[in-house]
Parts: sequence; structure tokens; C-alpha cells
Amino acid sequence: MEKKKIKKTYSNDEITVIWQPHICTHSKKCWKGLLDVFDPREKPWIKLDGATNQQIMNQIDVCPSKALSYQKNNL
Ligand code: SF4
Repeated sequence: MEKKKIKKTYSNDEITVIWQPHICTHSKKCWKGLLDVFDPREKPWIKLDGATNQQIMNQIDVCPSKALSYQKNNL
């Protein structure tokens, strides 16, 4: 059965984080690297006020599946 293709977005003033759970390979890198932002025990599990935008973008850059991505607002 094909996994449901969900796309969720989380925004602050500067960036929008895009989360596509059907792509995630559960490497755990995101929450092991930056638990104050990515915490699978919480709802919503992404909290953009837990770190600087740069820290969030750096962490997303190492997501191996690209289930997490971001774009800068106002571009
Ligand atoms: S880093 Fe990416 S692939 Fe790994 S658990 Fe997080 S979202 Fe999934």
C-alpha cells in the first residue's frame, strides 16, 4: 500500500520548514541533532523557536532523505 503523501509546513518570519513524512527514512538525525526543534514526542513535533534559523537550516541540510527541507520566506 502506498504511503499517504502528506506535506506539512512550519513557518516563522524568515523560514518555512517543509515536512514530508512519507519520505522519511527514520535516520533519527534531526531529533538527535536538534531536539529542541525536532521532538517526535511532542505535537507539533517541529518547534521553530527552539534554535536559530541557521541551526535549523544546518540540521535540515543533513537530513538524508530530504523529508525535511526549508525555504527562505520572501525569496
Ligand atoms: S533526519 Fe530526515 S530522514 Fe532522518 S528522521 Fe529526521 S526527517 Fe527522517
